[in-house]
Order: sequence, then structure tokens, then C-alpha cells
Amino acid sequence: MHNVIIVGSGCAGNTAAIYAARANLKPLVVAGHEPGGQLSLTTLVENFPGFPEGVDGPVLVENIKKQAEHFGAEYLHGTVIEADLSKRPFRLKVDHEWLEARTLIIASGASARWLNLPNEQKLIGHGVSSCATCDGFFYRGKKIMVVGGGDSAMEEANFLTRFGEEVALVHRRENFRASKIMLERARNNPKIKFLNNTVVEDVYDASQHVVTGVKLRNIKTDEVWERDVDGFFVAIGHIPNTAPFIGQIDLDPDGYIISHGGARTNITGVFHAGDVQDRTYRQAITASGAGCMAAIEAERFLEAEGH
Ligand code: NAP
Repeated sequence: MHNVIIVGSGCAGNTAAIYAARANLKPLVVAGHEPGGQLSLTTLVENFPGFPEGVDGPVLVENIKKQAEHFGAEYLHGTVIEADLSKRPFRLKVDHEWLEARTLIIASGASARWLNLPNEQKLIGHGVSSCATCDGFFYRGKKIMVVGGGDSAMEEANFLTRFGEEVALVHRRENFRASKIMLERARNNPKIKFLNNTVVEDVYDASQHVVTGVKLRNIKTDEVWERDVDGFFVAIGHIPNTAPFIGQIDLDPDGYIISHGGARTNITGVFHAGDVQDRTYRQAITASGAGCMAAIEAERFLEAEGH
């Protein structure tokens, strides 16, 4: 029986683990299918306080984990595939094993959203990617396309200009969701070509098992054309990882956990932290702050129960 199981090992889960471990709760962190969360897929993080020169995302999240381990947090490689939160102790199925916990902190984050093009899934790993940091290296001197209009798309496009001979940035609208500074940086990069008001209709060529090009459509003129592409990067946001909790925890229509104040969910003893609940701020620092809140609430809850 665990005092606290933390689901997810991004900065929310790892920060919750620091606080829970320092409260002598011996937390168990279930690392999940993307250990380290979104920070592990990013490059330089310039807005996490305390790092005037910036810090590499993977280094930052690994350091938070080491800090938690230093105080006694344990990490389990695996993913929660089923949960029974109908009574206490709460039960979680991690791969083939059922675990029991007095309290639960759900910090399972959000995963990349795909365009659902007819051939997109068939070409993942063969030219289609959601992670510039992971796959950019393969497209040295090649033609790259990035889809999206948020900060992620700007960041990926800028990063990919280190490798590609050109980076086309495709966005479905005229205006961008990205912050001014990130958009300006992309606009000032001579290797990035903007294709606004444009959607991707499909990516080719599944029969060759490699990306060779895309079919595009201008939504204002309805013009359809094809463009040669070697690397196709999708950066259109994320989907919260709440599948095992559907029907048990209150979720909004997009699957994000609905907060019941502080770090509380609708289930007493189950707390949320980070992007799995936060569709507004979604920053490393806010996720870390949320992890801290969830651990403090779990600690107070257990103390009130005499544990
Ligand atoms: P986002 O802000 O939600 O932007 C998603 C983009 O993808 C939007 O431009 C959206 O278009 C587009 N999109 C969504 N579904 C689409 C579809 N089916 N087809 C075509 N386009 C689609 O997501 P994000 O860029 O991943 O950023 C998430 C959060 O992380 C934000 O708060 C961001 O500031 C933060 N972030 C920060 C940094 C940094 O500071 N270094 C880096 C990355 C991300 P519409 O605009 O038309 O809806």
C-alpha cells in the first residue's frame, strides 16, 4: 500500500515527488509512456526561473527527478492502463500489476495531437514526426514542413532550420496563436517560408514507406497543389492523457481534468497536477507549481486521516 502514487514523470509529477518525498510519504512515481514529459522533447527552455542562460529541457526534467530520488521518491517504468477509483484504497493497473494507494496525484500530462490524414500514421517514423528535437537531425539538407500556428510550431520551425535547406510552415489561418516573440523569431528567419490559410490534405508516399511530399489546399482560394517534402513535423497541440480515468474523474469535453479547487478532483484523495488539467498556461513552471500544490494537498489529506 502506497501513501501516494504519482502518475506521470514530467515536471508536474517530478515536483510533486520532491514535495511528497520530503514529507516522508515515500511516493511512487509511475513514469508513463513518455518519461520526462514534454520537456524531454524540447530544446532550450528560456523561461524557467533560475537559469539566466536558459536550460536544456531534458536536463531540467532529469534534474527535478534526481532531486526527488535524492529524498527517497521511487520511479516505476510503466504506464497506467486501468484504474479503479470507486473506493479506497485506489487501485491502478500498471502494465500487468495492480497497485494500491491511499492518495493519487494525476500528472499524466498531454500527448501530441495528429492531423489524422489518411497516410499520416503509416509514415510516423518514416518522415512524419511530432518531435523536432528527436528527429530533426535526420533531415540535414532536406526539405522540411512544420504544421501549426502556436509556439510549438514556431519553436520547431526555428530549430529545424539548423538542419533543413528550407522549412515551410503551414498554418490553417491568417493569424497566429504563437506569442509575439516566437512568431517574430520565425518571421526573421530567412529559411522559414510561411504558408498561411493552408491545410494539409495528405502526406505521401505510404507505398514507398517514406515521406516524399504533401497535398496542400489554400482554404481561401480552394487551390490544391503538391509540394515535395522529406520531413513532416506536426506541431498542433496536445491531447490530455486521461484515458484510464474516463467515467471516474470529471473531465471536460476535450478530456482535461476539471479542477474542484486547488489541486482537487471530484474524488476525495485524488489530486491533479500540470497539463492534464491546465489548458491555459501549460508552462514548465506552472506544471511544477501545480505538482507542489498537489503534493501539499495529499500530505494534508493523509495527515488529517492519521497517516
Ligand atoms: P497551441 O498553442 O494550442 O497551438 C496549436 C496550433 O495548432 C494552433 O495554431 C492551431 O490552429 C493549430 N491546430 C490545431 N489543430 C489543428 C488541425 N487539426 N489542423 C491544423 N492546425 C491545427 O499548442 P502549442 O503550440 O503546442 O503550445 C501549447 C502551449 O505550450 C502554449 O501555451 C505555448 O505557449 C506553450 N509553449 C511554449 C514554448 C516556449 O515558450 N518555449 C514552446 C512551445 C509551447 P488555430 O490557431 O487555428 O487554432
